[in-house]
Amino acid sequence: MARVAVMRGDGIGPEVVDAMLSVLRECGSGIEVVMCEAGSEQWEKNSRRDATYIPDATMAELERADACFKGPTTTLPVPGAPRSVAVTLRQKFDLYANIRPCSTYERLTPGRRLECACFREATEGLYSGVESQVGPDAAIAIRKVTRRGCARLADAAMAWAEGHGMKSAVAITKRNILKRTDGIFWEEAQRAAAERGIKVSEVYIDNMAQQLVVAPGQFDGTVLLSTNLFMDIISELVSGLVGSIGLIHSANMGDSYAMFEAAHGSAPDIAGQGRANPAATILSGAWMAEHAGEADIGGAIRGATSLVINEGRSVTADIGGSASTSQMAGAIASAARASLRR
Ligand code: ATP
Repeated sequence: MARVAVMRGDGIGPEVVDAMLSVLRECGSGIEVVMCEAGSEQWEKNSRRDATYIPDATMAELERADACFKGPTTTLPVPGAPRSVAVTLRQKFDLYANIRPCSTYERLTPGRRLECACFREATEGLYSGVESQVGPDAAIAIRKVTRRGCARLADAAMAWAEGHGMKSAVAITKRNILKRTDGIFWEEAQRAAAERGIKVSEVYIDNMAQQLVVAPGQFDGTVLLSTNLFMDIISELVSGLVGSIGLIHSANMGDSYAMFEAAHGSAPDIAGQGRANPAATILSGAWMAEHAGEADIGGAIRGATSLVINEGRSVTADIGGSASTSQMAGAIASAARASLRR
């Protein structure tokens, strides 16, 4: 049985993570869940104000677990506050591929279909954290790009394309300006695509942003891949096209560990009100179940989530309904249980 360490996180985190865990339980998941604390709320309460949002006891549980689940955590934008929980864990467990599969829902974007997967390199690029002051009025940040980093991300993206019957991939760069760093990225994207018979094209980041707004349908059925910051921005744009950030799930994959999380943040503006859309967290939980060998449960939860969103009767306000977080999760759990019984 898989053992998973679960951090509920900040803001709406506890509401959506509890909703996800209740859906897994109701579907009969046998995953062993160990709850632990991480994030800025526990950090602010802790008088020691550690240099990290992840207490030692949590880190020990994360190391003992087979995988982990992270609720949204707030990263305080103040000098001296710790580094983000996600960035810390991606680097600690070498989770190099941040993957966000995105799909439109007929009720939310009628007649406009977009199904794609965003692959973001998650351990280097501008998130390497190498910044320095150059005299009093200037500072530099290093955008570190290695062949190994590009190769493994490109291999993961092309393997996904092949496994999901997607015929094409788009590598997002700015190679006319960043000739060396994006030069390596593009070479590896072409190599990995050729090895699996996937057609790959290169689109510059600025043009990509415009194309996604003007004609998103052209990217239906494609895998998008890019370096850390570029894909951070583009995947948010794609999330916006789907209807609500509350619908986008993600995983951070390495060779021997995985972390599942919703793509949205801790949404302090709606925390504690039961208004948060739990779909992204529930879909991340479904992916975790599949990863833990419970493919039937994961598949049933995915199908049930689509059904509930498209029916629109038991959904939260961000996608046009009036259900609470727990009512929407309850509707997903009943539909998933019904499908598992069939
Ligand atoms: P972070 O920097 O931590 O990623 P953010 O600043 O991008 O966070 P979010 O916390 O994701 O912002 O919130 C952005 C907006 O989306 C807010 O108005 C928030 O209420 C809304 N939002 C985020 N998640 C959800 C959700 N699950 N359900 C409904 N609305 C949400």
